[in-house]
Amino acid sequence: MKSLMGLYIHIPFCLKKCPYCDFYSITNIDLQERYIDKVCYYIDRWYAKTNQKADTLYFGGGTPSIIKAQLLEKVINKVKSTFLLDKAEITLEVNPATANEQDFYDYFNAGINRVSIGMQSANDNELKLLGRMHKNDDTIKAVYRAKKAGFNNISLDLMLGIPYQDEISLKKSIDQCAELDVQHVSAYMLKLEQGTSFYNNPPKGIADEDYMCDLYLLTCDLLSKYGFDQYEISNWSKKGYESKHNLKYWDCCEYLGIGPGAHSFINGRRIYYERNIDKFLYNMDEKDDGEGGNKEEYLMLRLRLNEGIKNKLWQDRFNENIPKEYLQRALQLSKNGLVNINGNGFSLTSKGMLVSNSVISYITG
Ligand code: SF4
Repeated sequence: MKSLMGLYIHIPFCLKKCPYCDFYSITNIDLQERYIDKVCYYIDRWYAKTNQKADTLYFGGGTPSIIKAQLLEKVINKVKSTFLLDKAEITLEVNPATANEQDFYDYFNAGINRVSIGMQSANDNELKLLGRMHKNDDTIKAVYRAKKAGFNNISLDLMLGIPYQDEISLKKSIDQCAELDVQHVSAYMLKLEQGTSFYNNPPKGIADEDYMCDLYLLTCDLLSKYGFDQYEISNWSKKGYESKHNLKYWDCCEYLGIGPGAHSFINGRRIYYERNIDKFLYNMDEKDDGEGGNKEEYLMLRLRLNEGIKNKLWQDRFNENIPKEYLQRALQLSKNGLVNINGNGFSLTSKGMLVSNSVISYITG
């Protein structure tokens, strides 16, 4: 049976640009009303074209929590009258520097049922080095406020490889995730993305590859001790609290992304909107980015998941068994401890996840 699609709404506004960030955003928040009206217009346009149903909605950014909660509610109502099913997972990314107590009540009453809070670190010196506007105290307050408003599905984002981060400071951040008793943690490695200020002027004290591996393995170890199950290279959750929306990306399901810079996978095609809010506010047609969902791409995405490649799912999707050459190469890598082989398929080990790009390109030949 075909899975339901996911909807992503990009909110391209931020208080200021963080020096490491490559996501499309601008700081002119006065455009928020016009922007949301236009998002609703694109939702109608897409629904008329696809007439499909969705069971997840994700507000990402940018900083979705920077705009008025009523505007988020407007989008939710539009999506509910078109794509969205009842009981859908509705996630909002929250910057701890932006949301007050009333905002969390407003988000909850608007129908948002999952918040992903950009903690990054529990150490104020690290937050400062990242150019973040919040302090650790703001993260703690945001989690308490979210809980008080009724949220019981809370995720925290951590960053690995922050300048001068060491195992002690990382442990403090992970300990705090456990103490705050949240349901989900994402941990992303700092990358110097082209076009960012960190790329042009790399800060001192960034972890080298070996140290990044140590930080990653420490994260895997500690989160598992605290009862978080790893289900994807960068994601851990308590049982049953995996991000349903993000799982659609790794499971190669269809999703629709609306907003400048947003990507979609629809009817076997990858498409995207240009990173230009002016054009989006006028009337922008999406660009074609080629065919999607072939065997190599499916393998690459599914191997990010702990579940990995499963023969039954492969058969359902491609009407054939996993190609023998993939299995043979996976078997070779299992001898180096990079791949786990089982009767139903194969997956990456923690060591394999650290070098996932090389492992995947080896397996796909
Ligand atoms: S990291 Fe978040 S808050 Fe900072 S510029 Fe990027 S999207 Fe905006």
